[in-house]
Amino acid sequence: MNKILELENLEKEVSSCFKCKLSNTRTRTVFGEGNPNAELMFIGEGPGKNEDLTGRPFVGKAGELFTRILEKGFGISRTNVYIGNIVKCRPTVDMNFEKDRPPEKDETYSCSPYILRQIEIIRPKVIVSLGNPATKFLLNTDEGITKLRGKWFDFQGIPLLPTYHPSFILRSDSETAKQEIWEDLTKVMNKLNWEIKVKIKWKN
Ligand code: SF4
Repeated sequence: MNKILELENLEKEVSSCFKCKLSNTRTRTVFGEGNPNAELMFIGEGPGKNEDLTGRPFVGKAGELFTRILEKGFGISRTNVYIGNIVKCRPTVDMNFEKDRPPEKDETYSCSPYILRQIEIIRPKVIVSLGNPATKFLLNTDEGITKLRGKWFDFQGIPLLPTYHPSFILRSDSETAKQEIWEDLTKVMNKLNWEIKVKIKWKN
């Protein structure tokens, strides 16, 4: 079966999934998107408000920053990479649906077969995990992102580099964190032997 069909079938399965309590609060599932033959795959934690409404990953404020970093900072089109999350339904703090929260362990483990299958189908050359929940799950560790970021790990034979989630950059507005995410993604570009076509730092 070709990759597109495999991903379409998996997406159908996800859209009718009720395996965890996040199914009660979602508007729609957010499967992931991008190039099925991507060499580079980004994995975040879960959909936020805008993602839940549109069904697309990384389209809220953090997603816009992520897209700016990729496209303006490194000259990589979003359509050339694959972007997914470890949970496919939006975790919220309460039924007012105003605030997002990180996925809980049971939610991550219920949903994890889907992202693992996406990795298996796409088989990227490099994975970048964005933030704590994705990194902790994929590396099976309790170590935090500040210790792990910028280092190379192995995920089932695929080089994996953790870095900050763009929402952390937005929240902290830390120049150090901006510099570090820049350095981390430069390492990824070098690993893939991709030329950095645009060297303008993004602006928030
Ligand atoms: S978060 Fe994942 S496991 Fe939970 S209901 Fe949504 S698709 Fe299913």
